[in-house]
Amino acid sequence: MRSITQLELQYAHRFYGFQGEAQYLHGHTGVLTIEVEDTINVGVNMIFPCNEILKTAWNVLKNFDHALVLRADDPLLPAILDVYEKQGIKGGTPNNTMTGPAFQTELATAYPECRLVVTKETMTVEGMIKIVHDLLKDKLNIVKLTFSSGVNKASQEYMSHLEINRCPLCGVALNENGACPKCGYQKR
Ligand SMILES: [Zn+2]
Ligand SMILES: [Zn+2]
Repeated sequence: MRSITQLELQYAHRFYGFQGEAQYLHGHTGVLTIEVEDTINVGVNMIFPCNEILKTAWNVLKNFDHALVLRADDPLLPAILDVYEKQGIKGGTPNNTMTGPAFQTELATAYPECRLVVTKETMTVEGMIKIVHDLLKDKLNIVKLTFSSGVNKASQEYMSHLEINRCPLCGVALNENGACPKCGYQKR
């Protein structure tokens, strides 16, 4: 069975070099749906608590929220960094608090201090699914991702690939010592 979680991300981007209006800078509310598969955890009668899926995903993905997403070769990138630098906000401000840990994968690098994500490929809905899967595949047993923004929507299915030992009392993943980080349960 599957536990299904949804979250929203608001971001600005453009399709650099694309022959269409999307080559102009514009914004979206993107909706990401994460489907996680497992057997039913008998103790709590659920696959995985959706608020825990959300917490795990949001910790990484909040770097995309209210962020600018630009391709690495987009000439807007140095131009914007120059403006941020001159304005003194490139390295962060006390008001920029919703920052996750910086990440770098083959497909995307996050600069949380200036709310910027630099991508290798154009951030289409298909591109976003590849980036999200890369960031979360070792943390969640994701079997399907769906991402929509405006009229664009894409989804990708994956093979079940992770065995996660779950707490029979609260459902969250046990750590490597068999202990529950949330309620303190210890597997014997
Ligand atoms: Zn767009
Ligand atoms: Zn627990």
